[in-house]
Amino acid sequence: MKPGNLMWECDSCGKIEYGGNPPEECEECWKMNSFVQVDEDELDIKREANIVEKIKIDFDKEDEDADEEED
Ligand SMILES: [Zn+2]
Repeated sequence: MKPGNLMWECDSCGKIEYGGNPPEECEECWKMNSFVQVDEDELDIKREANIVEKIKIDFDKEDEDADEEED
């Protein structure tokens, strides 16, 4: 992450924006001043959570494929 390029998350809808300053208005949910800075520790947790979620989806998908082969 470049210095001055911070990560911001909309406290209302979770939209992510990057920049030195947060957007005044969320373009997703139109809430004013809803953006909070995401620090790097929190970013890592989110990243891990996304990976876990992806593995779970892949596993469920494989499970469905296996059921089809049994027929
Ligand atoms: Zn929002």
